Amino acid sequence: MIKGLIFDIEKYAIHDGPGIRTLVFFKGCPLNCLWCQNPESINPNPELSYKKSKCINCSKCSESCPEHAIIKNPRNFIKNKCKVQDGCRICSKACPSTALEIAGQEITVDELLTIILEDKEYYESSNGGVTCSGGEPTFQWSFVKKFLLACKSNGISTAIETCGYFNPQITEEIFEACDIVLFDLKHLDNKIHVKITGRQNEMILKNLENLISIFKDVDNKKIIIRMPLVPYNDSKQHLLRIEEFLIEKEIFSLVLLPYNSLYKQKLINFRLKRTKLKISSYSKEQLETIKNYFKNIEISIGG
Ligand code: SF4
Ligand code: SF4
Repeated sequence: MIKGLIFDIEKYAIHDGPGIRTLVFFKGCPLNCLWCQNPESINPNPELSYKKSKCINCSKCSESCPEHAIIKNPRNFIKNKCKVQDGCRICSKACPSTALEIAGQEITVDELLTIILEDKEYYESSNGGVTCSGGEPTFQWSFVKKFLLACKSNGISTAIETCGYFNPQITEEIFEACDIVLFDLKHLDNKIHVKITGRQNEMILKNLENLISIFKDVDNKKIIIRMPLVPYNDSKQHLLRIEEFLIEKEIFSLVLLPYNSLYKQKLINFRLKRTKLKISSYSKEQLETIKNYFKNIEISIGG
C-alpha cells in the first residue's frame, strides 16, 4: 500500500488558502532555499529532532540506542551511525520528556483522510479545505494525488503549495486534483535563483506558464502567486520585473511572504546549517515602501 511521509499536520490554519484549512506537511523538496521556514522538510527521509530546553539529561536515549549513536545525551550525536532513516524510533520512544522527536511519519491515504474529515464542518462553513505543503508536495506526488482526489470525492476543497519544480508531465494531474495552487516564485534571474535555492528557475517558470494556461477561466479553480520576500529578491528593480512578468501572464495579484527568522531554532534542533541572512524581519515601513513599488497589480502581505 502506498504511504506518504509527513512531518506535521496543522489544523485551523487561515493563511494558506481561503477559509479554515488543515495543512499537511510532506517531507522532501528539490529546492534548498536559504530562508526555508521548514528546513526539516528538505530531506525526504525521517530525521531526529533534539530540543535541548526539554532535555532532563536522563541518558535514557543513549542507553537505549542499539547503534551507540548518542553518547550520554543527544548533544553528542553521531549522525552516520543513526538508523532513523531505516525506521528506528527507539530513542524517541525512550525519551520521557519529548526532547527527542522524529520528523517524518508514514501515513496511509485512509489514515490521513480520517484526520481531515474530523473538521469537515469548519471547511464547509468557511469555504476552506485541505492544503498540502512541505517540503514540496509534488515530491511525493503519487501519494498526494491519491489523497487529494480522496478529499475531493468527500466534498473537500483541495490546494497545494508548490515551489513549481516538478515534472511537467504531472501538470494535468495537478489540475485534476487541486482546486487551488499556491505557487511560490523566488527570483526571475536564473543565476540568483540558483544561488538562493540551489536550482535553476527555467522549469519552474515553464510549469507556471502551463498551469496558468490550463487554470485560466475555469470556475472554482485558481492559482495564487506568492513570493517569499527576502533580501535577495526585494530590490525595486526586481520587484518591478516581477510585476511586469505577472501582467504579461494576465495575473494581477501577488501575495508577498516577508522573511522571518523563526526557523532558526529548527536549524539547531535538527543540526542543520544555513548561510545567515542579514535581517531578522521587515518593518511595517519597509513593507509599505515595497508595496508602493507596485502600481498595476494588487499586493497583499501573507505569512
Ligand atoms: S533513531 Fe535509533 S539509531 Fe538513531 S539515535 Fe535513536 S535509537 Fe539510535
Ligand atoms: S532521553 Fe530525552 S530527556 Fe533523556 S537525555 Fe535523552 S533527550 Fe534528554
